[in-house]
Amino acid sequence: MNIHSSILLAPYTTFKIGGPAKFFCEIKDQFDALTAFEFAKKENLSVFVLGGGSNLLVSDRGFNGLVIRVVNRGVEVIKQDNSGVSIRVASGENWDEFVSFCVKNGWWGLENLSHIPGSTGAIAVQNVGAYGQEAKNVIDSVTVFDTATNQILSFKNSDCGFAYRTSIFNTSQKGRYIIFDIIFKLKKTEAPILSYKDLAEWFENKFPDLEKIRNAVIQIRDRKFPFPTEAKKGNAGSFFKNLQLNAEQYGILKEAVVREFSLEAWEKLDTKVFKEGSLYKIPTAFLLELCGLKGVEIGGACINANQPLVIVNKTGEATSSDVVEVAKTVLNTLKSRLGVCVNIEPELLGFSQSELRDLGRVL
Ligand SMILES: Cc1cc2nc3c(=O)[nH]c(=O)nc-3n(C[C@H](O)[C@H](O)[C@H](O)COP(=O)(O)OP(=O)(O)OC[C@H]3O[C@@H](n4cnc5c(N)ncnc54)[C@H](O)[C@@H]3O)c2cc1C
Repeated sequence: MNIHSSILLAPYTTFKIGGPAKFFCEIKDQFDALTAFEFAKKENLSVFVLGGGSNLLVSDRGFNGLVIRVVNRGVEVIKQDNSGVSIRVASGENWDEFVSFCVKNGWWGLENLSHIPGSTGAIAVQNVGAYGQEAKNVIDSVTVFDTATNQILSFKNSDCGFAYRTSIFNTSQKGRYIIFDIIFKLKKTEAPILSYKDLAEWFENKFPDLEKIRNAVIQIRDRKFPFPTEAKKGNAGSFFKNLQLNAEQYGILKEAVVREFSLEAWEKLDTKVFKEGSLYKIPTAFLLELCGLKGVEIGGACINANQPLVIVNKTGEATSSDVVEVAKTVLNTLKSRLGVCVNIEPELLGFSQSELRDLGRVL
C-alpha cells in the first residue's frame, strides 16, 4: 500500500469540489488499515475514511490530514434457503451495482434503494434510506476494524444504533471504526414496498416485479435531480434533512407558517406531514419552496429546481464557499421565518470551526 501526498480530492467526490488531501491512501484489508493508522500517528495527522464521496463536501482548502479510501472488493453468498439469502459484501463494492446484482437474482429488499451513488460500506454509516426503505431493515451485521484497539469486530444490527440518517458510525462512535463489510439479509419471496407516494402512484394497484420497481425508482429519481456523472451536475444528494418535530414544536411551526404565509399554506403542509410515533416528519423541501428558496444561486452553486433539498454544482466550477453560502442562506431563512433548525446531511471535510458552526455542526 502506498501513501501519496497532495492528492486533489474533488475528483473523488460527486460534488466535484474540494482541495487536496495532505496524504492519501487506498486500503484493502486490516493490515493496510494498521499501516495507514501507524503513519497517521507518527505524523500526528487527523484521519478521514472515504468511500465514494457522494455524501461529502470538501473545503477548497483541502484536508490537512490523511484520507483513507476503502477499496476492498467481494460479494459472497454465505447462507440461503427457500425463503431468503444472506450475502456478505465488501465495503468498496459500488452500491448500485450490488443492488442491480440482487435484483437480477430475484432477491427482495434493496430495489427501493436503487440509483444511490457511493460504496456499500457507507450504506450503514447514515442508514441510507429512500422510497420507503432503509438500510437498517436489510442489514444483518457489520464487520469493522476498530482503530482504538486494532481489532476486527462484528456488530449486530441492533448494536449499530440505526435511526433516521444516523448510526453509531456518524454519531457516538464517529471516526472510530472502519467498516470492511456488511452482511445483508434479503428475501426470496415477493416483498414489494410500495407505500411511498411516488411508487404507489406509479404502480397504482398493480403488483410489479423486482426489475419494474428498480426501473421505476431510477426513472422517478432521474426526474427529480441529476445523477452526478459529470462536474456540471455535481451534487451530494439531499443537502438538507427532513425535520422531525414533537407535538409542541409542530404547534409552533403551525403558528409561524400561518403568520408568515397563510392558513392555506399550513393546510397544504399538513397533508404532506407523516406521523411516526410521537414525531411529526416534515418535508423540508416544502418549507424551502414556501420561503421562496428554490431560486437561490450563489457563484456556481444553486438550489436544484425540481428537488430543492439538493444543492447542485451548476457550472461545474462551484467552490465549497459557494455551496456553504447557499446552505447558510437556506438555514438562516428557515430559522428566521419559521423558527426551525434544519440539519444538513453531508459530511464536511476541511472546514474551519466557524464555518462548521454556521452550518449547524457544533463540535
Ligand atoms: C445523486 C445522489 C443521490 C443520493 N440519494 C440518497 C438517498 O436517496 N438516500 C440517502 O440516504 N443518501 C443518498 N445520497 C447520499 C449518499 O449517496 C449516501 O449517503 C451514500 O451511502 C454515501 O456513500 P459514499 O461511499 O459515497 O460515502 P462517502 O461520501 O465517501 O462518506 C460518507 C460518510 O461515510 C463514512 N464512510 C464511508 N465509507 C466508510 C467505511 N468503509 N467505514 C467507515 N466510514 C465510512 C465517511 O467517513 C463519511 O463520514 C445521495 C447522494 C447523491 C449524490
